[in-house]
Amino acid sequence: MDYEKLADLLFPNVGTREEVEAKYPKRTLNQGEMITRFAPSPTGFVHMGSLLTAYINALLSEQSHGKFLLRIEDTDQKREVENGIEGIIRDLTDYEIKIDEGAIVGGSYGPYIQSERKDIYLAFVKDFIKKGLAYPCFCTAEELAEVRELQEINKERIGYFGSYSKCKNLSYEEIAEKIEKKIPFVVRLNSPGDFSIKHQYHDLIKGDVNYFENDIDIVIMKSDNFLPTYHFAHAVDDYLMGTTHVIRGDEWLSSLPVHIQLFEMLGVEAPKYAHIAPVMKNDHGVVRKLSKRKDPEASVSYYSELGIPVEVVKLYLKTLINTNFEEWYLKNTKEEFIFTFEKMPTSGGLFDIEKLNSISREYFSRLSAEEVYQGLLEYTKKYDTDFHSIVSKQKDYVISILNIERETEKPRKDITAYSDIKKLFYYMFDEYFFNDNPYEGVSKDYEIDGLKEYFESCYQENDCEEEWFCKLKEFAEKFGYTPNRKEYKEHPENYKGMTAKFCEIIRVMLTKSNMSPNLYDILHILGKEKVEKRMNLFISYLQEK
Ligand code: GLU
Repeated sequence: MDYEKLADLLFPNVGTREEVEAKYPKRTLNQGEMITRFAPSPTGFVHMGSLLTAYINALLSEQSHGKFLLRIEDTDQKREVENGIEGIIRDLTDYEIKIDEGAIVGGSYGPYIQSERKDIYLAFVKDFIKKGLAYPCFCTAEELAEVRELQEINKERIGYFGSYSKCKNLSYEEIAEKIEKKIPFVVRLNSPGDFSIKHQYHDLIKGDVNYFENDIDIVIMKSDNFLPTYHFAHAVDDYLMGTTHVIRGDEWLSSLPVHIQLFEMLGVEAPKYAHIAPVMKNDHGVVRKLSKRKDPEASVSYYSELGIPVEVVKLYLKTLINTNFEEWYLKNTKEEFIFTFEKMPTSGGLFDIEKLNSISREYFSRLSAEEVYQGLLEYTKKYDTDFHSIVSKQKDYVISILNIERETEKPRKDITAYSDIKKLFYYMFDEYFFNDNPYEGVSKDYEIDGLKEYFESCYQENDCEEEWFCKLKEFAEKFGYTPNRKEYKEHPENYKGMTAKFCEIIRVMLTKSNMSPNLYDILHILGKEKVEKRMNLFISYLQEK
């Protein structure tokens, strides 16, 4: 067969591979420099699994002073959604994942959207035809279904290979006749592989994996739009773009034999492959992949809506990326953490939202009040405009609330997300505290003797904490509250309770709850006027019996 003639028959107006290659010079790289890429289909939002993939790629390239590329793989146009690319870029930008080259961003190895690279792929397809490495296949869907059926009956492997590769042996004349009749065709790989030959490949994450050579004549170019299939496109792109490491989900591990073969047939060095274990979820005892459709926590918007900072999600992802990261983070060392393939899990770890929450609490506890305030402003601006208008007007007041038991050696760890702040401190804001029935649900059994008097004659706003407590103890004692635990244990009948009980009454009065951060701070920050307003209402509520 004269393959040159065949190539010109099939693709008369397509240029040569050499012309394309001339436009994509090989990158000059420093020792260890990694060129990685994230190659999603334009299906809109990025979910946790793919964010993890993108992040690993970005971290490793950054660490090695290399480049991180974003390539949009849209050759399967059925999977496309409107504004899909924008959605991906938005999520990566929100997550501060810097794209060095790629769709929208640009770069000298573009275009980075596969559907815009059609001529490039066609030049390579034509080159394969010229070399006898590929051939046109005119089989109809019905014919292929028959082959499949037969293979199923014979309990054979499924695919277009060996004696089933009907179109492999068509003569030039037969092909020309079909082309003349405009019969649609796909281009198939003329696989040189032998399925009985076993090889070993060293995957950078999974370690040594065994595989058999591919002998299936896979489709490399589709018939309807002359676009390549994923397998072929990724090989051409990673070759031309100079990708050094393909780091991707392990659902692609089974395609490795085809991919290695494609690089061999292209006659170029293959990138190194690293297959990431999926993120799993324990769904009522059944462990399965975290699902974009079923699990709200799989979507990145889940975290932004709750107000879990991007940094927290990234910290959590880092714990999934390297098993030794968490220990390093908790030690709070200043040394830089170096990510390695060796410390990446080989099988799927559980996505543990509880752990993410605890990392978040730890993270929030390390922020200054001012930092929390800034984050709160940003969050409320987007997700809670009512609260936003309240907090933006009272900066100092809000910062002092946020500073209760913060910026100390053992800070409180009660904030998991920005949305918690209103729930935790709503009582500090008159707008929320004084609703129709502020003490709803509070027991009416609280003893209020002395309460009014305490605030009128004893409580001094300017007292320091120690002084304040000393005076409070003394005052409460006159009303039957003892500071003496032993005494109280022996004769509980003689007392209304211990000093803590008196404090509890004040605490409930101010916060509607018997658990709150430091009472002294709350009193102090609220200020006399707000305290008095709460006291009057509390007393009348308890008197309404
Ligand atoms: N387009 C493929 C995907 O959607 C990319 C796989 C790869 O990274 O090679 O997952």
